[in-house]
Amino acid sequence: MQIQIAIDGPVGAGKSTIAKECAGRLGIVYMDTGALYRAIGVWCKENGTDAYDEDAVAAVLPKIALEIKLISGVQRIIINSGDITDRIRTPDASMLASKVSSYGAVRTFLLDLQRDFAAKNSVIMDGRDIGTVILPNADVKIFLAADPRERAKRRYDELIAKGSDVNFDDVLADLEKRDRDDSSRTHAPLKQADDAILLDTTGYTFDESVERIMEIIKTRF
Ligand code: C5P
Repeated sequence: MQIQIAIDGPVGAGKSTIAKECAGRLGIVYMDTGALYRAIGVWCKENGTDAYDEDAVAAVLPKIALEIKLISGVQRIIINSGDITDRIRTPDASMLASKVSSYGAVRTFLLDLQRDFAAKNSVIMDGRDIGTVILPNADVKIFLAADPRERAKRRYDELIAKGSDVNFDDVLADLEKRDRDDSSRTHAPLKQADDAILLDTTGYTFDESVERIMEIIKTRF
């Protein structure tokens, strides 16, 4: 039986780390959909297309062959045969992703890729519109939330651990801007699906969040 689990929520709510852990426990695939928007934003920048120019981005999409590969169960994003995965985790890539993700042409371009992946694999997919647009019939839908300062602190700690030179106020400002932009855009805005379960992880440890989500998932199967 194919399983589809959708986890949506704002920046830094812990979606990816929690989803990855739950996928491992369930023996199913984790798919990070933010990576797709990041890859398009970074590819545009590296190839001389202004990511802030909607028409220019829409015009280059036919030149982008995007593939999701699983290497030892870990997702890699391949664009035109080149693996871009290691270059999409910077603060600049986050802002580029947020910009290109607001374009209808980009969302349409990525829609079938995500649905096909979920049709072929049992998945936990995380993103902003998984429960509302990509997998409206998912078996389980969870909307993860947490206080913005706590989310910014988690994101800041992650970036510092990776050796990035960032300060907390910039991380918080970027996060609030991305949430505002993601929630107010016309195409597939960030919002909780009517049938999603809201889980606020403020004050939860990582393990507590995972346990809560596993309990929710287990009630459905
Ligand atoms: O989740 P992540 O921070 O990697 O996502 C980067 C950006 O991609 C988000 O700020 C959002 O604008 C966009 N995104 C989206 N829909 C998704 C996943 C990500 O619009 N399903």
